[in-house]
Amino acid sequence: MKEIGHWINGKLVPGKSGRFAEVYNPATGEVQAHVALANQDELAYAIAEAEKAQLVWGATNPQRRARVMMAFGALINANMDKLAELVSVEHGKTLPDARGDVQRGLEVIEVCMGLPSQLKGEYTDSAGPGIDLYSMRQPLGVVAGITPFNFPAMIPLWKMGPALSAGNAMILKPSERCPSTSIMLAQLAQEAGLPDGVLQVVNGDKEVVDGILDNPTIQAVGFVGSTPIAQYIYGRAATNGKRAQCFGGAKNHMLIMPDADLDKAADALIGAGYGAAGERCMAISVAVPVGQKTADALIEKLVPRIEKLKVGPYTAGNDVDFGPVITKASQQRILGLIDSGIQQGAKLVVDGRNLKIQGYENGFFVGATLFDNVTPDMEIYKQEIFGPVLSTVRADSYEEALKLVIDNEYGNGTAIFTADGDTARDFASRVNVGMVGINFPIPVPLSYYTFGGWKKSAFGDLNQYGPDAFRFYTKTKTVTARWFSGIKDGAALNFKALD
Ligand code: NAD
Repeated sequence: MKEIGHWINGKLVPGKSGRFAEVYNPATGEVQAHVALANQDELAYAIAEAEKAQLVWGATNPQRRARVMMAFGALINANMDKLAELVSVEHGKTLPDARGDVQRGLEVIEVCMGLPSQLKGEYTDSAGPGIDLYSMRQPLGVVAGITPFNFPAMIPLWKMGPALSAGNAMILKPSERCPSTSIMLAQLAQEAGLPDGVLQVVNGDKEVVDGILDNPTIQAVGFVGSTPIAQYIYGRAATNGKRAQCFGGAKNHMLIMPDADLDKAADALIGAGYGAAGERCMAISVAVPVGQKTADALIEKLVPRIEKLKVGPYTAGNDVDFGPVITKASQQRILGLIDSGIQQGAKLVVDGRNLKIQGYENGFFVGATLFDNVTPDMEIYKQEIFGPVLSTVRADSYEEALKLVIDNEYGNGTAIFTADGDTARDFASRVNVGMVGINFPIPVPLSYYTFGGWKKSAFGDLNQYGPDAFRFYTKTKTVTARWFSGIKDGAALNFKALD
């Protein structure tokens, strides 16, 4: 059986703890590798080595660090197919979707190539007699990235790009379900010129995460995963005096107004609801048609589209629209939630429970499922299902639909489909959600904006990537300098204006 270790000081090293997690091929249900789970000694060693490497890397001029990002980006591009395959093998998503996973991460690296301009400080000449004032942004030191299974390339790149280009060293703890892509990315970063030790990939579970949270050398923690873990990590990191930004789960609603182009809305819901088997934090899991006529017409358009969807292993190429979910436990949980939806009175319009794929009978597949007449008290509405299940909640008015989104505990993404600019504008302005799409179902901002939800979808102040990420991974230092030529001030005991 293949064993996946860690990437420490520019080398693959086997795990020493004797503890492993199973890495599945979700399409066959078979264990395809064992990934090492680091212990505290392995983690402490990786952090101590990263601390030494950071001293040199942090003092390297920004332009040189930007050049490493340029070479890194070129290598990611050149290895796009290999990286995508690695994503598909462990995650199960289709190859085109896996390429998108790599591409959206690469775009963050592209922005990091322009990092010298992001890291410029400020300067005020003659702020007072002989006094100049300036600020600079300095790296934090050693930081950590803890990432989820569902974007094995994109989210590690969102973490490592801004952190490393700003001059930090990083301990990256990828998901134990999909660990291999992070290791390949670290190898490519080394090939691009990143000094050994600056990026350490330490595989593990809660034990290593807790070690990161308690280690005094770690200055900041960037986490992405489910809400309960995000909240836990945010609390423990903050108690230990670390910066933390922790992005959590979601329940994203899409409003469909009576004036919307319903074919376009239905197509959008198919992609956003079922793409990647619904395992996206920006997936639309709740459709909110406004008015009974809109709802009936929308359901009529969705059903044939859903019935045409092909589910299977990524190796079937273009014959597959989406793949399996990540684990047996996840499959069973989703099936259980579908059962609960029926028991609680929702109308099951398309049932994906009994999907069997020839040759892949043990794979973790769930077919595309559609519910109508879902109400906010049902478990399928309250929980993040993270599977190919779309719930329809009918609303009688725009205000009722908007209130549903506003009252939801999550606030990652949302969308409205309408032909009316005033309604769209009102929605974008009033909704309490971090990322909003207008006739656009998955509004993941481009890499020169920033990504982050509101409410229980994010804990911490700054967003991921873009300008916020450079602020998160640097500290501001402000210098007030005075030179005495021509100034005759004596000792000053009181605060006063600098004039
Ligand atoms: P998860 O919370 O189970 O795991 C995320 C990371 O936390 C992994 O590295 C895992 O090893 C670690 N972890 C798990 N349990 C832990 C514990 N008890 N203590 C310490 N560390 C622990 O999430 P997942 O299942 O890998 O990913 C899916 C979730 O991530 C979904 O909820 C999805 O919405 C969310 N997500 C959010 C965003 C975002 O930007 N908001 C992006 C992608 C995914």
